[in-house]
Amino acid sequence: MKISIVGAGAMGSLFGGLLAESGNEVTLIDVNDAHIGAVRTEGLRLATDGGERQVTSLKALRPEDAVGFPDLLLVFTKTLHTSAALSGVGHLIGPDVHVLSLQNGLGNVEKIAGFVPPERVLIGVTTWPADMVGPGHVQSHGKGVVRLMAADGIERSFVSQVAEVLTKAGLDCTSDRTVWAAIWEKVAFNAALNSICAVSGCTVDELGKVPDGSRLANDVVTEVLSVALRMGIDVDPAKCWGNVANAIARHRGHKPSMLQDVLAGRRTEVESINGAVVALAGPLNIKLPVTETLLSLVRLAETRANA
Ligand code: NAD
Repeated sequence: MKISIVGAGAMGSLFGGLLAESGNEVTLIDVNDAHIGAVRTEGLRLATDGGERQVTSLKALRPEDAVGFPDLLLVFTKTLHTSAALSGVGHLIGPDVHVLSLQNGLGNVEKIAGFVPPERVLIGVTTWPADMVGPGHVQSHGKGVVRLMAADGIERSFVSQVAEVLTKAGLDCTSDRTVWAAIWEKVAFNAALNSICAVSGCTVDELGKVPDGSRLANDVVTEVLSVALRMGIDVDPAKCWGNVANAIARHRGHKPSMLQDVLAGRRTEVESINGAVVALAGPLNIKLPVTETLLSLVRLAETRANA
């Protein structure tokens, strides 16, 4: 399959590297010149449980230098950059191109539907982790899965083809019509742990040192999933509380991306996580006091960090 990946940071490069290794024609597209330059000259240095190697069978380009229509355009920017990134690759969105988002948060389908008709939008969720080690160098340890579906919920052969291609690359993908429940459960998990860590400066395990950390996290999960349940999405709060407790018990020293962004003076994904849930709750007359307070505090932390 001919696959272009816009936003080739940690996740885009992991997926791009594995997809290239399994025989697909992959182009990484990014505005980070140091990273793109390193991949172009030396290949992608990819460290996974399968070992560390140099993947050279892929292209790496800035958006304006990319040409030709891919079969699949995979979006892996942070959610706040989705629209700008798709504008930058508008010339690659031909009449048959499908666009897939495996980004975190809500609102990704709506943003992508500004660029392609809804029947060519695929949405999903992944539990694969990845980190940028430096320009041209990405690592991912452990195992994850991908679940995806057509955003309009209609079964299409292209969705199964994409699932097969991702699975062949070792990414363990299923085409699954219950993806929205998984997306919301991940949003609840991230709304809790990311925002509390971002405003407190705690790592995930440090939230377990006083009862307030776990209590706040569970309150956020309950609030977020109350919105999903009202919208008719079949989420499982008990499973999500369990995932949060497990992360607090096991993720020693882990700084979630929202905390990393605040510390680095970057904007976070809070608007597509806590912000998107609060926006949906308003018209449903659901109050989310903890989630909304954390949203305000992360916005303040972003402002201070940028200053
Ligand atoms: P990242 O910051 O490592 O990568 C994002 C990339 O997008 C960067 O390289 C950046 O230069 C690029 N970018 C920004 N604006 C662009 C533009 N206009 N055109 C082209 N490229 C542009 O982020 P990441 O960790 O790979 O996360 C990507 C998404 O995946 C996020 O939504 C994140 O929440 C989600 N996610 C991350 C992980 C993880 O473990 N890292 C796991 C699951 C989901």
